[in-house]
Amino acid sequence: MDEARGDSACFADDVGSRCKTAAMTLLSELSERIPGRAHGPGTTEYDAGRTVFAGVGEPDAVVRPRTAEEAAIAVAAAAAGGFPVAVRSGGHGSMPVSGGLVVDLAEFTSIEVGDDGLVTVGGGARWGDVAAALAPHGVGISSGDTRDVGVGGLALGGGIGWFVREQGLTVDALRGAELVTATGEVLTVDAESHPELFWALRGGGGNFGVVTKFVFQAFPVDPLVGGQVHFDQSDVPAVLRAWRDVMRAGPERLNSTLVVMPPFAPEMPVGPQLGVALRGTEEELRRLLEPLLSLPSVTTVDLEPMAYGELLDDAPPGRPPFLLVGGNGFVPELSDAALDAVAAAYDREVPTMILLRALGGAFSRVDPEATAIAHRQAEALLMVNGALPADATAEQVAAAKAGSDAAMAFTSGVYGNFSVEQGDHVIEAMYPPDTLQRLRRVKSQFDPHNVFRQNHNIAPAG
Ligand SMILES: Cc1cc2nc3c(=O)[nH]c(=O)nc-3n(C[C@H](O)[C@H](O)[C@H](O)COP(=O)(O)OP(=O)(O)OC[C@H]3O[C@@H](n4cnc5c(N)ncnc54)[C@H](O)[C@@H]3O)c2cc1C
Repeated sequence: MDEARGDSACFADDVGSRCKTAAMTLLSELSERIPGRAHGPGTTEYDAGRTVFAGVGEPDAVVRPRTAEEAAIAVAAAAAGGFPVAVRSGGHGSMPVSGGLVVDLAEFTSIEVGDDGLVTVGGGARWGDVAAALAPHGVGISSGDTRDVGVGGLALGGGIGWFVREQGLTVDALRGAELVTATGEVLTVDAESHPELFWALRGGGGNFGVVTKFVFQAFPVDPLVGGQVHFDQSDVPAVLRAWRDVMRAGPERLNSTLVVMPPFAPEMPVGPQLGVALRGTEEELRRLLEPLLSLPSVTTVDLEPMAYGELLDDAPPGRPPFLLVGGNGFVPELSDAALDAVAAAYDREVPTMILLRALGGAFSRVDPEATAIAHRQAEALLMVNGALPADATAEQVAAAKAGSDAAMAFTSGVYGNFSVEQGDHVIEAMYPPDTLQRLRRVKSQFDPHNVFRQNHNIAPAG
């Protein structure tokens, strides 16, 4: 093992004096080579870079480059010193990191719209800003449901957005990227240039470097109508079946998410809540939704024409103070038995939130080998999360997990972007064996020392 790059990186929970010295050396080297861009504890930039949706970390240093070249200097210096490098885009995906360097892409927020519908987006932009920049052009990029979520994490991990049944995932709209590798090279990556790396970027997450620029294909989104339909808890199974039938019968222009909320807290809604969008008219949407709108458990209907950006929500201020126990998976077929199991998972003692996101259509037409997201044969994504107190015992956790197992038995795979757990078991569920092997080969070529390991980590092939 090369001592300078060794595996003995300096994590904050393993801080010996050698590590502290190494961290200070890294900070002073970065301060010298990219003046004003490297930040240590006690600075506003350090605090911003170490704070993510899931909590606050303790990296050794935060760097805020302005260009790919500055990012390359920072990554190469950290790698040479044996430090892991974490990347922060919108901060809504990663776990707080201990030790190492955080590359905060707060300066990479540019959005340029070309005449050809190709949109070049900085690796640290937010999807709400992208939607706003594209609105005057009448186009959009299918990119999730939340304004504050970052372009980087969502796009590299898949991206299930409001047009997934018509346009596929966000990765399916990716046409190219500018990438800073672990050795500090700046590469243009697309179908012609580094095609295998381009394949890996489309679903392999932040494992291969820092993406400073993305190029996406946008598409027309107007006219658009959307909104919410809420139901009470009196007949959840009927809502589940009607939703399945509506989505099966509807065109791919119809997209929706059904969230079934337990009684978490008095100020939070309870029962099924449908979020829906149609590229079409309000009249057509109401007609398509009729089997749902005519259910006796409907409490409110709020549907209207809207701009794409208005469909997006603001993120909650932080992760809820519960321990969420369960998981997610792709459902090949929403059979009656699968929906009965979902209803049973909701109807139990542990307050349980269910999320069903309609897939199929363009999402499923993509060849499983075309991108690193291989679980394409899915009618829906299912997430089942029991909410336990933060100090729940191991027995309570095991019991809560067992309560969702019957529903999860109808799924296969895991959508990494929605997984709060990390580890080999998650990676093996995210990627089928052949896909994982292929990703590991790309990893060993572009990041053999696993510098980018503070993520859903793909270990380099041995
Ligand atoms: C409130 C909320 C709503 C969400 N809604 C959706 C949704 O509708 N659809 C959906 O598909 N997902 C959704 N997600 C999940 C989301 O896609 C992931 O959490 C994603 O990782 C967030 O990206 P980020 O850039 O904000 O996160 P970050 O924490 O900044 O990044 C997450 C990880 O991605 C990698 N990364 C990020 N940017 C780069 C980059 N430029 N170069 C290299 N690596 C990078 C890094 O490994 C990093 O650790 C949601 C999450 C939240 C919290």
